[in-house]
Amino acid sequence: MCVQHSTRAMADRAADLTAVLLADPAVESVSEVLHAYGERGPGPSGDLGLTAEDVAAMRGAAGRLREVFAAADVDEAATLLNRLLAEAARPPRLTTHDGRSTWHLHVDGHDDAPWAEWFLTSSAMALAVLLADHQRVPGGICAAAGCARPFADSSGGSPRRFCSPRCATRARVAGHRARRAGAAPGPRPAGDQPA
Ligand SMILES: [Zn+2]
Repeated sequence: MCVQHSTRAMADRAADLTAVLLADPAVESVSEVLHAYGERGPGPSGDLGLTAEDVAAMRGAAGRLREVFAAADVDEAATLLNRLLAEAARPPRLTTHDGRSTWHLHVDGHDDAPWAEWFLTSSAMALAVLLADHQRVPGGICAAAGCARPFADSSGGSPRRFCSPRCATRARVAGHRARRAGAAPGPRPAGDQPA
């Protein structure tokens, strides 16, 4: 468990898990995202042993985390994160998972805590660190039409509005088309079609 521990990786993992849990909460899909972030079970196959009950509980946590990504401002995000940490987090502790990883911080109860507890506490911790680093909401909800995917924003540069370069491009093209349509209102005469 827990191979990539940078705040950035943990915050991105929080956003990607939130997205998959709310959109496509199948055990296979959620396991795929966990594998992509380096999570491996203890056995040789690396199977995570994730169950439908785990995913259902994780989905509840995802709903809470989505509120943080959707927060209107930094104060609201901080209030929501404080509430999550007060409810779910335990005293910070360092672990290597019995030598299977480098030392890193956990705020769940123990190394064998349920997936939902691990997901909620590790996500809240990473998002809280990002918030304190950059003094703003630690992510957002993609502004591209029809996307609404949550994303983490760990850059510290100008705040992002889109989950991905793909959505940013799509929104720019749509905006350009809308402006052109606005500049030439009404149906075009047949003879006015571009060649
Ligand atoms: Zn998007």
